[in-house]
Amino acid sequence: MDLTFTPDEEEFRAALRAWLSAHVPAASDDFTTLADEVRFLTAWQRQLAASGWVGVHWPREYGGRGATTTENYILQEELARARAPEVIGRIGVNLVGPTLIHHGSEAQKRRYLPPILPAEELWCQLFSEPNAGSDLAALRCRAERRGDAFIVTGQKVWTSYAQFAHWGILLARTDPESKGGKGISFLIVDMRSPGVTIRPLRQMTGSDEFNEVFLEDVQVPIENLVGPLHQGWQIAQLTLSHERGTSPRQLVVHRMLLNELLALARTPAPGARPATADPVIRQQLAQAFIEVEMTKLHNWRTLTQLRRHGKPGPESSLVKLFWSEMSQRLHDTAMQVLGVQGQCWPGEPRAVANGRWLRSYQYYRAATIFAGTSEVQRNIIAQRVLGLPR
Ligand SMILES: Cc1cc2nc3c(=O)[nH]c(=O)nc-3n(C[C@H](O)[C@H](O)[C@H](O)COP(=O)(O)OP(=O)(O)OC[C@H]3O[C@@H](n4cnc5c(N)ncnc54)[C@H](O)[C@@H]3O)c2cc1C
Repeated sequence: MDLTFTPDEEEFRAALRAWLSAHVPAASDDFTTLADEVRFLTAWQRQLAASGWVGVHWPREYGGRGATTTENYILQEELARARAPEVIGRIGVNLVGPTLIHHGSEAQKRRYLPPILPAEELWCQLFSEPNAGSDLAALRCRAERRGDAFIVTGQKVWTSYAQFAHWGILLARTDPESKGGKGISFLIVDMRSPGVTIRPLRQMTGSDEFNEVFLEDVQVPIENLVGPLHQGWQIAQLTLSHERGTSPRQLVVHRMLLNELLALARTPAPGARPATADPVIRQQLAQAFIEVEMTKLHNWRTLTQLRRHGKPGPESSLVKLFWSEMSQRLHDTAMQVLGVQGQCWPGEPRAVANGRWLRSYQYYRAATIFAGTSEVQRNIIAQRVLGLPR
């Protein structure tokens, strides 16, 4: 594992840090609606993009900086460190862009790539279906060729930000006789097309950022087919590989959460002893510290792998599995430290840090599900890293 950054990388970090210190907007977590938050985040992404800090890993000809994997890692790390809001168009920037750059036609690249970085157009990912999540190849959404269009019928689910998206990348079965990964195609769908119905799903955090999406006889022009007909599964593998890999943002976020938790644990409530007086909690806090450091090392190992071989390999499942379960253990410890007050919602007078901890605890329950569940990551590690039988 390489534990150093080059002088060029340190220069990149310094320039970015200086820009962020002058531009990061004041933190705000009290938006009246999700639409308000999306508007705020869209303006932030536009500002970042205007200075060339979005999609730095994209080639220069498509608006990126042609930055290295390590520089992109540094970017995520510094954004989190500066407590900058997350980029709202991340599906476009991190998944759609690299997929189209690799597999899209020239016309598709010219039409779809430029509006992604400044968040002029947002994208969603129409992959998961009821009964086709972990087993994505079981998907049943159909696309039938009629004249110059595909007619798409089916249902998708858990589609993040579909209600704000202009476009969706969709996997559909174009060969009705096929099974598994064969006979699937990768299409670009205009989310405002007739026949698209989006129903938000309310999560326990109170937010409704993901949705059910129903497609009824939706017309998709044939020029929106990405790559060859029936080869969508192979293309989707590239899209999915960009969902895992390193997670510098999560590393920094959890380091900051831990520091905040340590301060809270040392401060006693009026008339009570500090949480750190409890030897079991002390051990759990020490364990959380060790696990955050281990997350850093897992990240660095994957980063070294990316630098040497250009792709993360199945070992990237280790990073995803470790950080997501580490997060849930850290949040369990937080709930013990905070006691009943930790369970107060934002706005309640006794809420700790205006209920941020409760929201964070609830949000990170999803971490062991999205981008592949823990069980799926363990299967990958067993079969593809350790070579164990299926
Ligand atoms: C916050 C969030 C955002 C998301 N955003 C999107 C999005 O934008 N677009 C999109 O397409 N999808 C999205 N998803 C969906 C996500 O990819 C799926 O939830 C995930 O793949 C799991 O699928 P599932 O929910 O259908 O669960 P299932 O696959 O039904 O799994 C149920 C349980 O069975 C276990 N299981 C399944 N198969 C195996 C196996 N072979 N071995 C052992 N255990 C197994 C799982 O681990 C899990 O515990 C999102 C999910 C979340 C939580």
